[in-house]
Amino acid sequence: MLPQFGFVRAQTLDEAFAQLDAADTRVSAGGSDLLGCLRDGVFDCAKVVSLSRLDALRGIAANGGGLRIGALARIAEVAANPTVNERYAVLAQAAGAVASPQLRNQGTIGGNLCQKPRCWYYRGEFHCKRKGGDTCYALAGENQFHCILGGQGCYIVHPSDTAPALVALGATVRIASREGTRTVPIEEFHVSPRDDVQRETVLRAGEVVTAIDIPAPPRGLRSSYRKVRARGSWDFALAGVALALQFDGTTVTGGRVALSGVAPVPWRARAVEQAIMGQALTPEVAERAGAAAVEGAAPLKRNGYKVPLVRNVVREALLAI
Ligand SMILES: Cc1cc2nc3c(=O)[nH]c(=O)nc-3n(C[C@H](O)[C@H](O)[C@H](O)COP(=O)(O)OP(=O)(O)OC[C@H]3O[C@@H](n4cnc5c(N)ncnc54)[C@H](O)[C@@H]3O)c2cc1C
Repeated sequence: MLPQFGFVRAQTLDEAFAQLDAADTRVSAGGSDLLGCLRDGVFDCAKVVSLSRLDALRGIAANGGGLRIGALARIAEVAANPTVNERYAVLAQAAGAVASPQLRNQGTIGGNLCQKPRCWYYRGEFHCKRKGGDTCYALAGENQFHCILGGQGCYIVHPSDTAPALVALGATVRIASREGTRTVPIEEFHVSPRDDVQRETVLRAGEVVTAIDIPAPPRGLRSSYRKVRARGSWDFALAGVALALQFDGTTVTGGRVALSGVAPVPWRARAVEQAIMGQALTPEVAERAGAAAVEGAAPLKRNGYKVPLVRNVVREALLAI
């Protein structure tokens, strides 16, 4: 059952900032994650400030040579947008792989980047480390869907499909508050449990994501998102890979690779990038790059299957691109 809380639908961004100034407030965009968290008692709050009337935060438009996506753009709009499909296929594919059609129509890109992790202990009645307790229950518990890379103290996986695509594209996040505006590279937007086990993003109290900026696609860019889930219907990634690679002929000359479903943050796979740089994507190179993707992996008791899964997803995606 939903607890009681105040609800304000801000008419302007300034009104949203003023409302968010009070203690114990939460931002709502589509509400598809926030209301579930409130219903399940993951956290509570005194007031929800809805951004849904703020037209300035909508839209997908050219920005210099690149693209600006308003934080309130629906995930379905991002998936269907012709420019996104033509120039940033990895993002269109990732947005199209999020959840179900209903959730893609309700959920926004800003909310997708800021959503809370899906760990069933965090979402359940466990006072885990992420909630301020002193135990990560997944460590000795049911950890088949948890991370194999980057865990420390807490072993969640970052749940968003669009975030790794945006990491691969080198996007930046625009953040605004009463104090002004700042931009953060998406790679620095999410917070690892190694740095702070109770935060998922660098957002400070009173701050709102207003837009995501994607730079112009470099010459020879090819990009793709490949997601593996446990079933054909909607589901979070068991593992996934976002590729945004530059080619000169068949040779990789630059670009980024990011993984989903395997780490507490969208995981930039620099070892994969190094393994393919200056190479044609032959089966041997793709095999080596797949192995590089899981260098340093530390699987838990029940998620060892993710190691070969990631290795093969990366290999297949490189051969397919
Ligand atoms: C059944 C189910 C399946 C799902 N499967 C997937 C999946 O496969 N892949 C995937 O990527 N996601 C998946 N999701 C998550 C879904 O995509 C998110 O619920 C959705 O993207 C959140 O968007 P929203 O606009 O509804 O966010 P909200 O629920 O409104 O907000 C989510 C969080 O972000 C914060 N927030 C929202 N907008 C802003 C902003 N502009 N600035 C600052 N903070 C903000 C809120 O305070 C809240 O903490 C699934 C969700 C469900 C319920």
